Amino acid sequence: MTPEEFRKSGHELIDWIADYRQRISELPVRAQVAPGEVRNALPSEPPESAESFASVMADLESIVVPGITQVQHPMHYGWFPSNASLSSVLGDIASSGMGTLGISWESCPALTEVEQVVCDWLRQLTGLSENWHGTIHDTASTACVTAMILAREKASDLSKNKGGLTALNAPLIVYSTKQAHSSIAKAVQLAGFGNDNLRYIEEDPYTRAMKPEALAAAISEDRAAGKIPAGIVCSVGATGTTAMDPVDAIADIANAEDVWFHVDAAMAGSAMLLPECRHLWEGVEKADSMSWNPHKWMGTILDTALFYVRDVEHLERVMSTSPSYLRSTADGEVVQYRDWGIPLGRRFRALKLWFHLRLDGPDTIRKRIRRDLDNAQWFKQQIESKEGWEVLAPVDLQTVCILHTPLGSDGVSLEGEALDQHTLAWVDKINSSGEAFMSPSILDGRWMVRVSVGVEGTERAHLERLIGLLENATSD
Ligand SMILES: *Cc1c(COP(=O)(O)O)cnc(C)c1O
Repeated sequence: MTPEEFRKSGHELIDWIADYRQRISELPVRAQVAPGEVRNALPSEPPESAESFASVMADLESIVVPGITQVQHPMHYGWFPSNASLSSVLGDIASSGMGTLGISWESCPALTEVEQVVCDWLRQLTGLSENWHGTIHDTASTACVTAMILAREKASDLSKNKGGLTALNAPLIVYSTKQAHSSIAKAVQLAGFGNDNLRYIEEDPYTRAMKPEALAAAISEDRAAGKIPAGIVCSVGATGTTAMDPVDAIADIANAEDVWFHVDAAMAGSAMLLPECRHLWEGVEKADSMSWNPHKWMGTILDTALFYVRDVEHLERVMSTSPSYLRSTADGEVVQYRDWGIPLGRRFRALKLWFHLRLDGPDTIRKRIRRDLDNAQWFKQQIESKEGWEVLAPVDLQTVCILHTPLGSDGVSLEGEALDQHTLAWVDKINSSGEAFMSPSILDGRWMVRVSVGVEGTERAHLERLIGLLENATSD
């Protein structure tokens, strides 16, 4: 494709994207395809020669679009807000269009230095001190694997340079809670600790926050048994109910015990753009590493996960290998991001954040997040005021966990399996209608439904419509 051909097709594509975003609320929220349907609609053999742009676009429209669950739809309340601001889409296009390669500072000095600048802007925008140094990972999952490797290498005195974990004679232990995102258990497994060495600490039964005294007791018990406490992962906004672990109290234990402390704020980090939310991660300055995803609620398109550490020297000691072909005269003067994480080659992801922050402005983003916080509180009150409905967990941010309990034919409230069946039936009725989408989830062994507010297009009127759908779906 020549630049002139690109210009022509590119203009068409941008028009198509703009139209798509304008008509998104007319599309069904949940993808309306059966397993295998998209795949079967495509040729199983690769094309041999060039096809026209028009034929690719026709298939995009007729085959790909029906296979998309529209997370930008204003009636999408599933999983978490996965906003993709169009300003950040422009940054993504610019990044791809220039075709840069980030394997060292030399290979694209601007890639490294814009990344340093936007990570630092976001540090300031979330009220963090200058002690933090950031980089961009693809996802919070990768950030957590990195954090767990840092924890492992700290507790094992850089075992990677010796016999690795297999040469240690005591197990290394990581502490978290059952509320933590599944990526935490995955990171603990992949960093070599093994699932048996992940200890879930007791939670408060209502807030589902980690109990610091239970953590302290678990650490003492493990030390007494000859094990090595190596890492603590706490959640600021855990996945199920957006539970908030008490960061400050946990940090004190982590520091007293000299254990690596990682804060996973993947979802809730966006809220820290608002000074009034920062009490939720009070104590974060005492952590060793922290990550959050602008690609969720804040709305920079995937994949932009921020990872901050305080001790860059430890990070580089663990992550660098510096083969000769990558060494340069600038070493020591510049940051080599390959020494801050797992991959060597990196994209110019920082442009997504740079475009987003400059074209939308933090003031606009803050206003939208405040709107969502208000909407979530309003929705919570509406649910609580309705006969048969309840809200199951605190609503600190934008996730509202709801349950509807009807009376059975004997006049007694449904419970157990029958209640689960009722919950799954009403949520499926709404989800399969395409009118709205919510994620059912298990809390304390029972199904409930999470209503995650925060799509860029979701206004109060959409939540009013959702309430109508909930009433209809549970009224027969
Ligand atoms: C979404 C989420 C993650 C995982 O994020 P990815 O970027 O998809 O890996 C981890 N922890 C929490 C609390 C999350 O909300």
